[in-house]
Amino acid sequence: MPLLLLDLDNTLLDRAGPFRSWGQRFLDGIGAPPADIDWLLSIDADGLTDRWDVADAIRDRYALRIPSIDLVEELHDGVVAYTRLDPLIACALRIADQAGWVPVVVTNGTVRQEEAKIRKTGLDRYVADWVISEEAGVSKPNPRIFALAAQRVRMPLRGAWVVGDGPEADIGGAAAVGLPSVWLHRGRKWADGRFAPTRTADGLIAAVATVLAR
Ligand SMILES: [Mg+2]
Repeated sequence: MPLLLLDLDNTLLDRAGPFRSWGQRFLDGIGAPPADIDWLLSIDADGLTDRWDVADAIRDRYALRIPSIDLVEELHDGVVAYTRLDPLIACALRIADQAGWVPVVVTNGTVRQEEAKIRKTGLDRYVADWVISEEAGVSKPNPRIFALAAQRVRMPLRGAWVVGDGPEADIGGAAAVGLPSVWLHRGRKWADGRFAPTRTADGLIAAVATVLAR
C-alpha cells in the first residue's frame, strides 16, 4: 500500500481558472479595462504571490479605498466560489485507491483550505488525509512535511510518489526526500538543473495512470 502524495492547487483542484474568473468579474466591477486581467495574472504569479501583496498592488493601481483586509477576503472567497472538483479527477483518485494507493494531500498555505477547498468541493471523500503547511509548521519543499503526511496515515514514506505542478515545492521536495515524482507541466518546460521529475504529465489523470503503471 504505497502513498500517493498530492499537491492541491493546480494539481487536484484547478486554481488558475477560478482565479481568472474571479479576476474578470472583479475588474469589471471596479470599471477596469478587461485587458487588465493579464496584469492581475502576472501580479498573482499563479498563486505564488502572498495575497496581501496582491491586494496592495490592486489598491495601488486603481487607487481603491477599500481596506486591504477586505480585499484579501474578497480574493479568497471569490476564488473559492469558483473552485470545483473535476469528477474525472475524483474518478482517478478512486481508481488509485482501488489499486492499493493511499492518496494524501500535501499543500502549502493556510488552514482555511481545509474547509474552503478540501471539504467544500468533496475532495475529502477521495483522499485518506491532508497536511497543510500552516498547521504543520513546515512547508514544501522541506522533507519534514512529507514525513508528516506519512505519519498521519501511519504508513512508511518508502515507495511513495509525489505528484504536483510546483517545480520547487513539489518536485524539489520529492528530490529532497528521495522520492520519485510526476510533474504536471501545464504547458511549461522543465527549467531547473538541480533536480528533475521522474516523469512528466499533462494533468492529474495522466499522472495517476503513470504512477499506477510504474
Ligand atoms: Mg500547485
